[in-house]
Amino acid sequence: MADIHGGASLPSGPDAKKRRVSYFYEPTIGDYYYGQGHPMKPHRIRMAHNLIVHYGLHRRMEINRPFPADPADIRLFHSDDYVDFLASVSPETLGEHTFSRHLKRFNVGEDCPVFDGLFGFCQASAGGSIGAAVKLNRGDADIALNWAGGLHHAKKSEASGFCYVNDIVLGILELLKVHRRVLYVDIDVHHGDGVEEAFYTTDRVMTVSFHKFGDFFPGTGHIRDTGVGIGKNYALNVPLNDGMDDENFRGLFRPIIQKVMEVYQPHAVVLQCGADSLSGDRLGCFNLSVKGHADCLRFLRSFNVPLMVLGGGGYTIRNVARCWCYETAVAVGVEPDNKLPYNEYYEYFGPDYTLHVEPCNMENLNTLKDMEKIRNTLLEQLSRLPHAPSVPFQTTPPTTEVPEEVEEDIDHRPKHRIWNGEKYDSDPDEDDEEKPPRNRSFSNVTPVVKNEMRDVKDEEMEE
Ligand SMILES: [Zn+2]
Repeated sequence: MADIHGGASLPSGPDAKKRRVSYFYEPTIGDYYYGQGHPMKPHRIRMAHNLIVHYGLHRRMEINRPFPADPADIRLFHSDDYVDFLASVSPETLGEHTFSRHLKRFNVGEDCPVFDGLFGFCQASAGGSIGAAVKLNRGDADIALNWAGGLHHAKKSEASGFCYVNDIVLGILELLKVHRRVLYVDIDVHHGDGVEEAFYTTDRVMTVSFHKFGDFFPGTGHIRDTGVGIGKNYALNVPLNDGMDDENFRGLFRPIIQKVMEVYQPHAVVLQCGADSLSGDRLGCFNLSVKGHADCLRFLRSFNVPLMVLGGGGYTIRNVARCWCYETAVAVGVEPDNKLPYNEYYEYFGPDYTLHVEPCNMENLNTLKDMEKIRNTLLEQLSRLPHAPSVPFQTTPPTTEVPEEVEEDIDHRPKHRIWNGEKYDSDPDEDDEEKPPRNRSFSNVTPVVKNEMRDVKDEEMEE
């Protein structure tokens, strides 16, 4: 067995150090605006991109501008009436009777506001993840990145937790056209509920979510929620507490993922890199450094399996940009200088102007005993799986069957909001007043040619 500290390589291919990386970026993504005081800021993706370009990382990857996802593609997961609603609602028409009666039904309003260009934003996010899947399917890339993706809370007919269209589910559905088994790993501080729910009854997708659990949005992700029917044991949940640090996170992530890779042998992996698990996040409560966060990508990359890397949450936007820039560097296999290059958003990164930030001295409420118990429970769950489930397997019951606990009634679990509605506008560097003016017509979208990508030239990227 490979040494878990040094990474491991599956027999699927030699672990050449280099990876062909394909990067998806929509240049207008930073113009979308959820509204004053709303913590979700698409501008963070533009900030990350700006750092990536100023570090010269774009020269080490293929750069693609995603095609907007076609409504027909979005309907492969989402319901027709919900897609019709998203495609036609606008802040101006919000009050009209036809729309207002749907707001509650589709959970649009508070956490998930109707903003200018909403559907274009969803199309760009989903188009990037579908495009990334197509690249991997064709064997044109080893790693495909889409920082505008990772919107893991969106449901079939419902917006949730700042997410409207679940680009991850759509990307995985695309991967499943070619790949027999897909592994989904989620390191956002919130449970990856939308993706888990979509694949809860199948063994063709294994979902693994590491998240804060207990009086926290969305409230799901109990360690005993493991899947249903054929999907039983193909959902893994790693419930964590406040103050989770690099060392403890790695001590769970590496052995669990090592075991998952051995037992499940996925043909493709999707990693959701929600950056709200970083230290100092405005909505999160973990204490990970950028390096600790990126270790998850470093480890998954070492298996040499086609890998899609997506964004997600992240609400202290200067740290989100740092994190996704560093993770882009990890994907292409370079170690960037800690001193930030001059860039268009330089003033956000003071007073140190460094790529890395130290974790804080908050207390870690995850005890060693908790960690050991979680690790053992999940490794035991994994040991119950047959190796490589597409191979016909014996139906002999496993010898270590654990008695089922009384199921908690999911309808009686407390409902959580992702954000308490408090406005975030006091920080000068992230001031809503300073948002760039919107200068784009959303009615004039480029015609869609399905599953093809336009190349963005370097000079366009540098602007
Ligand atoms: Zn989150």
